[in-house]
Amino acid sequence: MQAGRTGLDGREPGLARRPYTKRDLDMIYRALLEAYGPQQWWPTAAEDGPAQRFEICLGAILTQNTAWRGAAAALANLQGAGATTPEAILDLPEPVLGELLRPSGYFNAKARKVRAFCAAVLDAGGIDALLAGDADEVRARLLALWGVGPETADAMTLYAGRKPTFVVDAYAYRLFERLGRPPGKRDYDTYRLYFLGKLGDDVWTLNQWHALIVRHGQQTCLRTKPQCGACILEPRCEFARGAAASEGE
Ligand code: SF4
Repeated sequence: MQAGRTGLDGREPGLARRPYTKRDLDMIYRALLEAYGPQQWWPTAAEDGPAQRFEICLGAILTQNTAWRGAAAALANLQGAGATTPEAILDLPEPVLGELLRPSGYFNAKARKVRAFCAAVLDAGGIDALLAGDADEVRARLLALWGVGPETADAMTLYAGRKPTFVVDAYAYRLFERLGRPPGKRDYDTYRLYFLGKLGDDVWTLNQWHALIVRHGQQTCLRTKPQCGACILEPRCEFARGAAASEGE
């Protein structure tokens, strides 16, 4: 990997551990986009419309603490059972719903969360009513629901509601800590507010940022064996420099 390929070598004296500027983040974004291409999130069976928005929200719950593959299998089970609307899901006995959701893990808890979400959709007057308003309103409404934490609320707000917010996850913490320039402590709101402040409110860019960080974390910046030699960010990465230095000792 050529040093400086991203346009920054990350070695400027005095900048160590200072959070990235917007210009730095733009370069990282372009590098990730160059490496992986535009990401197509979120894949759903439903066509664009309320059914798709509802499916994206279900996916956000089902992928909690599990890989997307398991969530997708659970969604396919719901499709196969004809349970694609809040009403149809609530008509299912909870143990039956749990079995359909089994591939997503923690399936009994997820059955209760999915039921609670379906009830909230009906109470609101439909998925579009639940997702109506600006990003802060939608996010606050979703966070008030049982079983919906910040990451899930932001995923729903961004991908289903198409409102500007930033989804923080373990991949984001890992990447920016390894690069050596985290926005601060490992705290959801610290990361979210920092990225929102730097990246602006373009929904497509925010959509791609999260998807690219996940792709990078799953394909290259692996938890136990990061593939630094194949990483487009290697020239500016503190973790990679430390690994190279200890290899040279
Ligand atoms: S160089 Fe290695 S540790 Fe750094 S971002 Fe890339 S894969 Fe992760």
